[in-house]
Amino acid sequence: MTALLRLDRVSVSYGGLRAVSDVSLTVPEGCVVALLGANGAGKTTILRTVSGLIQPDSGRIVFGGRRIDGKAAHDIARMGALQVPEGRGIFPSLTVAANLEMARATASRDIDLVGTAIELFPPLENRLEQLAGTLSGGEQQMLAMARALVARPRLLMLDEISMGLAPIVVRQLFDAVRAMKDAGATVLLVEQYVDAALSVADYVYVLDKGRVAELGEPADVRESGLATSYLGGQT
Ligand code: ATP
Repeated sequence: MTALLRLDRVSVSYGGLRAVSDVSLTVPEGCVVALLGANGAGKTTILRTVSGLIQPDSGRIVFGGRRIDGKAAHDIARMGALQVPEGRGIFPSLTVAANLEMARATASRDIDLVGTAIELFPPLENRLEQLAGTLSGGEQQMLAMARALVARPRLLMLDEISMGLAPIVVRQLFDAVRAMKDAGATVLLVEQYVDAALSVADYVYVLDKGRVAELGEPADVRESGLATSYLGGQT
């Protein structure tokens, strides 16, 4: 399987404080890779480093066969790596329809997926003319993911899409991740909801204090219990 994204011994610091140490990971084309670990383990830092929002101290990051560490965030975004940040990344003062239209305008490929996105997230259908900021938390997360789907990135990075949402909404969101994967998307996701992440991931990396503590397929990680032990048994 071709690697769409590869990190090779990447370390990242904030000031003098090391947040990520010597992390190597691979995201194969068409796969979902989950980063798990307790608060502060370094998961968000890895996504932000891939996006070019933080520069690594050392190591190499290769995306689509090209080295991207040291590149500016807008160049990496233009190459097709899109991050849906914790806190959603939508335009609250625009309507739902305008949010989707903006994402369509940035799509690298000439396919209109607005209809598909609305089918995948039915609650959005009746709210197209509503301001995005007035949606519920779950609907805002659906809109953020619908925008990502419409933009059709080569790599989609999702940071804790479940945060603060009811279990039923979390299930809907992960069903959508599965549908995106079935449609060929490549996804790197950060998650605290271990079961939801394991149910959709092809490969899992468990981080502890900025290092990879375990990696493998979901069944291996589930068996070792390491992922849940780092999260204090949260599933
Ligand atoms: P969370 O689920 O809480 O977001 P995480 O696994 O994503 O956790 P990071 O947010 O990547 O972890 O944080 C890794 C370490 O870096 C933590 O010790 C955190 O305190 C520190 N850190 C994160 N952001 C900053 C920042 N902007 N400035 C200084 N230190 C930071």
